[in-house]
Parts: sequence; structure tokens; C-alpha cells
Amino acid sequence: MRIDLHTHSAVSDGTDTPTELVVAAAAAGLDVVALTDHDTTAGWDEAADAARRHGVALVRGSEISTRYGGVRAHLLCYLQDPADEALAAELTVTRRSSQERALRIVEMLAVHYPITWADVLAYTGQDTTVGRPHIADALVGIGAYADRGSVFASVFAPGSPYRPARHAPDTAEAIRLVRDAGGVPVLAHPGAVARGSILSDEAIEALAEAGLAGLEVNHRDNPIDQQIRLGGLAKDLGLLVTGSSDYHGAGKPNVLGEHTTDPQVWEAIEAAGRSEVIR
Ligand code: AMP
Ligand code: FE
Ligand code: FE
Ligand code: ZN
Repeated sequence: MRIDLHTHSAVSDGTDTPTELVVAAAAAGLDVVALTDHDTTAGWDEAADAARRHGVALVRGSEISTRYGGVRAHLLCYLQDPADEALAAELTVTRRSSQERALRIVEMLAVHYPITWADVLAYTGQDTTVGRPHIADALVGIGAYADRGSVFASVFAPGSPYRPARHAPDTAEAIRLVRDAGGVPVLAHPGAVARGSILSDEAIEALAEAGLAGLEVNHRDNPIDQQIRLGGLAKDLGLLVTGSSDYHGAGKPNVLGEHTTDPQVWEAIEAAGRSEVIR
């Protein structure tokens, strides 16, 4: 069994439609794939239709942008009830704030680059959670940079002026919302030191007490020393250990199935989640 529990479609900042993503997962030989677009469930229905036709088991989820103290933390959640009002409302606020921040960034960039909001929207669909990756696409589109990675390494580098704040729920509060909606919360890439500051052992312990189910230990952004640290923490705290690709289509070099999750861990997640796995 090959199980990849973290991917993005064009409903957030991936480049495959949900259908293309499911087809790519089947072609990559995955048995189980999770769709975890940022702060949304808008891709769930299309992905489910595709999964029924292409023989891949589909886990529907989201990746929620949260903050804990001063640390930005991404929270994967699986099999939540998409109609749960409290969680859906929180995601709506987060998406709006992300879009407003993107607008402000484009206003600032427009002083130095020939870029407009319409250029950014050209890289999004109707239901897309708009974020910095789409601004990056627009900067690549006008020839200012080679790819998304170059934009993140310069325009969005730590200390750059193009980093206004946006709303993000407290991580512990998001964990409670996910649990109340029947979802299974797992911290995404918690050792991703290159992205900025990361959660301490004490913070992860407090989040475990708040209802966290697992840690995404096996992810390319967690260096080996972090994987060892997080594996030990998971053992001590009784948390599940997952592994996944964080595939973004052409938006990132990450390849489907480059890291996978143990079948027993997957069974525990399925057993704990409220929504159906699509087969
Ligand atoms: P935002 O949600 O607007 O804060 O943008 C964060 C998103 O940018 C994350 O979901 C990442 O997938 C994406 N991202 C961060 N760094 C990079 C990078 N170096 N190359 C491509 N995408 C990136
Ligand atoms: Fe992303
Ligand atoms: Fe993430
Ligand atoms: Zn992700």
C-alpha cells in the first residue's frame, strides 16, 4: 500500500485540477491519496468524482494556516465534516484575509513591477484560495523571475517589506475546531526550519493535549535531525507519524509518493475521521 496524505490542487496553490491530481495519483501507483488544499474544501466534490472513476482511495481534507504564539504552523486535517459551521466559518475568514493580504502585496509590488491584480487572478480559478504563490506566478509571467521558488527566495524572503500580516487562527483553537467537526488534525512539516521559526517541544506537547493526532515527520522540508527529534516526540506523546509529498503539481518540485504513510497509521486516521473515504 502506498499512501500519500498531503497534496494540493489548483483550488489552492497546486497547478493540477482536482481531477488531474487524482489521475496523477493513480498513474504514480498510489493506493490512497489525500487532497489537502489550503484553507478550503472546495475541491472535494470534483476529486471524489474522479476517485470513483480512477481506482484511487481519496481522503478529503484541508491544510489550515494557523499561528501559535509567533510561530506560523500549518495544520493538516482529514475527513472532517465540510458542513460543520464553526470550522467552515473560520476557513472563510482565513481565505478572505489571505486574499486581502494578497491585494495589499500587489499594491506594494506595483510600485516597482508592471503587475496588476488581474495578472494574479489569471493564475487562479473561481474557487481558488488566493495566496502568495499566485502572486509569484504573476511575477514569473511578466518575466521578472524564473519560478515560484525564486520569488519566495527574494520577494517573500524573511525581512522583506512584502510580508504584511494576515488572520490565522490559533493552532490549539484550530485543533479543537477540527476535532469538533470530526476531523483528524496532524501538524504539517513541523520541522521545516527553512520556512522560519518552528514549534518547540513544549508547544507540540500542549497541542497534543489540545487534541492533536499526529506529526508529519517524513516530509522533504524536515531535515534529518528534525525527523529524529519529531519521531521521538511522537513516541513520547503517543502521536501518529505520517509521511507525504506535499505535491503542488508544477508549483513545486515535490513528487507524488516521495514520502508515504504507514498503512497502520492510515487505518487509525480513517477510524477516527467522520467523513467517508471515497473508493
Ligand atoms: P501564503 O499562503 O500566501 O502564505 O503562501 C504560502 C504558500 O506558499 C505555501 O502553501 C507554500 O506551498 C508556498 N510556498 C512557500 N515557499 C515556496 C517556494 N519556495 N516555492 C513554491 N511555493 C512556496
Ligand atoms: Fe502550498
Ligand atoms: Fe504547508
Ligand atoms: Zn501543503
